[in-house]
Amino acid sequence: MEEKWQRIWEEEKVYKYDWDDESRPVYSIDTPPPYPSGDFHMGNFLNWTYFDIRARYKRMRGYNVLFPQGWDCHGLPTEVAVEKARGIKKSDVPPDVFRRMCEEWIEQYIERMKQAVIRMGASVDWSTEYRTMDPDYIRKIQLSFLLLYEKDMIYKGEHPINWCPRCETAIADAEVERVHRQGNLYTIPFTVEGEEVLVATTRPIYLPACVALSVHPEDQRYTHLIGKKARVPVFGQEVPVIANDEVDPEFGTGAMMICTYGDKADVVAVARFSLPVVRLIDGKGVLLEVAGKYAGLPIAQGQKALVEDMREMGLIRAEESLDQEVGTCWRCGTPIEVVSARQWFLRTIQLTDKVVETAKAIKWYPDWMRQRLIDWATGLDWDWVLSRQRIFATPVPAWYCSKCGKIKLAKPEELPVDPKIQQPTTPCSCGSTEFTPDTDVLDTWFDSSMTCAIHAGWPDNPNWRRQFPASIHPSGQDIIRTWAYYLMVRHLALFNETPYKSVLINGMVLGEDGRKMSKSLGNFVSTPQVYEKYGADAPRQWAAAGGSTGTDIPFRWQDVEYGRRFMQKLWNAARFASMRLEDYDGGWHQPELLDRWLLSKLQATIKRVTQAMEGCDFMNATEAARNFVWHVVCDHYLEAAKSRLYGEGEPKKAAQYTLHTVLRDTLKLLAPVIPHLTEEIWRTMYDPHTSIHVSPWPQPQESLVDPEAERVGDKVVALIAAIRTEKNRRGLSLNAPLPQVTVYGGGHVADLALCSRDIRNTLKIGELELLPEEGGETPVQGLEGVGFTLHL
Ligand SMILES: [Zn+2]
Ligand SMILES: [Zn+2]
Repeated sequence: MEEKWQRIWEEEKVYKYDWDDESRPVYSIDTPPPYPSGDFHMGNFLNWTYFDIRARYKRMRGYNVLFPQGWDCHGLPTEVAVEKARGIKKSDVPPDVFRRMCEEWIEQYIERMKQAVIRMGASVDWSTEYRTMDPDYIRKIQLSFLLLYEKDMIYKGEHPINWCPRCETAIADAEVERVHRQGNLYTIPFTVEGEEVLVATTRPIYLPACVALSVHPEDQRYTHLIGKKARVPVFGQEVPVIANDEVDPEFGTGAMMICTYGDKADVVAVARFSLPVVRLIDGKGVLLEVAGKYAGLPIAQGQKALVEDMREMGLIRAEESLDQEVGTCWRCGTPIEVVSARQWFLRTIQLTDKVVETAKAIKWYPDWMRQRLIDWATGLDWDWVLSRQRIFATPVPAWYCSKCGKIKLAKPEELPVDPKIQQPTTPCSCGSTEFTPDTDVLDTWFDSSMTCAIHAGWPDNPNWRRQFPASIHPSGQDIIRTWAYYLMVRHLALFNETPYKSVLINGMVLGEDGRKMSKSLGNFVSTPQVYEKYGADAPRQWAAAGGSTGTDIPFRWQDVEYGRRFMQKLWNAARFASMRLEDYDGGWHQPELLDRWLLSKLQATIKRVTQAMEGCDFMNATEAARNFVWHVVCDHYLEAAKSRLYGEGEPKKAAQYTLHTVLRDTLKLLAPVIPHLTEEIWRTMYDPHTSIHVSPWPQPQESLVDPEAERVGDKVVALIAAIRTEKNRRGLSLNAPLPQVTVYGGGHVADLALCSRDIRNTLKIGELELLPEEGGETPVQGLEGVGFTLHL
């Protein structure tokens, strides 16, 4: 049934965004273009359920909803996968051949991901589909590069960067993963005018690139050495001893070596004290000439050989193991090195205040996630390094004049351009027509951090601002520091405006055991496994109701099973209703007390669900709607109204009117979470031609709010439920007639008497005696002083 509706929705273009409609307000969703790994996992399922509930809800609220979908193709993951699958390195084949291999590789996975997104029932407008590797997408990214360069927000400069020696590329701070590992702390002697100064370091191999020795200015052990020259062991160069209040006198010996670059602290010190930069390694992480006899060795091997030699020379004075935090490449796990290189940068640091101000001004679901972005932005101390030394990515649209060296940027009309293949169409300002291409490519986040504007239609659609800023940017808590942040700085730099008006954060999906879901832990559940057994509507209920928005949510089969049982309940209720409504005239009929009781409770449910939906509180929205259907409509109302629905005349018509109204509105309340089943029922019972997903969201009607009916009705249904329970306890079938029942109504007798016919008919009671005194064999829970006796 689900796949049938997915086909029909597509055929009927139910989710098509109307680009020309000026009458309805726009709701634009900044759908993340996922990296098409081919595996649409339960984490993706959770994300897309959130986006989709939001899209469906807003559509029913009358918005013109833009729910686009793209694929983020470029980047290291694809290159690493292709290198592994083909057993080659990117440099073994010409760049265009390697690029084609990557395109083929990724294409096979896009189709699989797309099918999974369709299969979970996402209401995507597929006419918006794009790939970041499409020439047209590359054109837009390169255009934004040119515009940012014109605004002096992009520059090329020499700057320390994080470098992965395996992937041979610069990587951004956000791509560095901190891991703990066991290292060694070596104590080694420097000499200052004959005096030995011990220094503790985890990386003696950086000695050739040592440019200073630093001590705390108030450290009495060393103050007399400040300003003198220290001789570096083994390599023999002389470096200044400087006072640096960043040095922790408690760490190691209190004397630290500054190298280019052992870590980020070195970068800060080199800039602060204007120290020289010594290049120690090449792009592959191999030691250069300056390392003397160790030159030509990879850095790890060089360190091993050097430490062995130093041990023999008696230059390792102490050695202890140390738990250290090491930065590694997010893609391949290789420890990163900090090196100095000429790269392209976006001036992100100067935007930090603006990022904080904007993060505070926009809405966050949940609110406490706002601080994550602020903390990340304020903790950064380097500009965003945009260039990568890879192949499968958007090329930097630039050349260099072979004669004068000036940068030559492509012209907007030349885009998209690959400067390695094409030449500029105009000469350099010096007159030369000889150029060398910039061979760098752009960080894949540079592709995806333009989505808010590109989804809106920038730069080609003159009305793109109608869809911009995005109404909502949905993101995982793990990618706030990348995706939410890069989108923000990129659009602020280009348009001086926030790219999104609100952010919706989802947590991670955990395994059933509460640990991170992973294949190696054996707690992994794949989406096809779930679809096969339960389809999409049942696990969507798990995703919506499994935990509050923004928190980590464990996958629980029992939640999916509960979802399935709820749907069974809804289906049975709807089937019963459709039979009992066959002769319904469609009109209003004066509702009876229990009808008014139900209609009043419906209004409260509409208010509760609407409020939760407005606040992206999918858990409470789902629970409120499900509880109403299951425990109010099915458990109580249908039981109490059954006899009227099987009967004749006005009492029947009143119940028909009530059931018709209540089922219609509850289907709508459930439609964003359970889109397929609600559509199936809707088209059968209400409107065969128009989807429930474009029907208006129910509005609570104050005229139907009836506290008096609720007060009385609550008592009546409590009594009915208590008698049913007692029948069951006594082993009687629920349909078994009861010849005589005495109800001791106590102070509630007048209220109960208002519905004595319903009580009698529902429970098939032959003779119902309703007495004003208290008593009876069985007390009614929650109704003080009320009890009853079954005379069997
Ligand atoms: Zn790497
Ligand atoms: Zn020139």
